[in-house]
Amino acid sequence: MTIKIGFNEYEIVEKEEDYKQEGASHGYFDPIAKKIVIHTNSPGLDKDVTLLHEILHAIFYETKHNDINEELIETISYWLINIGRRNPKIQKRPS
Ligand SMILES: [Zn+2]
Repeated sequence: MTIKIGFNEYEIVEKEEDYKQEGASHGYFDPIAKKIVIHTNSPGLDKDVTLLHEILHAIFYETKHNDINEELIETISYWLINIGRRNPKIQKRPS
């Protein structure tokens, strides 16, 4: 699956990660390879939050915002997904 963000198209890749390595994460954004990778076996993974988190990294990259605040990205991702889940009528509005 791919996702269009700005002028680029990124591949969304789901794969397992070796968690014996240090610095393991739920996923990452790779602007050079044009990929968003989700680590499907990551303990405590919420795939929706992680995907939105990495999409926000892509938006920051596309808009040339270099002052990335991981905590802010994680907060926005978590809150937007949870607002959507708790307010399903918002997501089901006709376009
Ligand atoms: Zn991040």
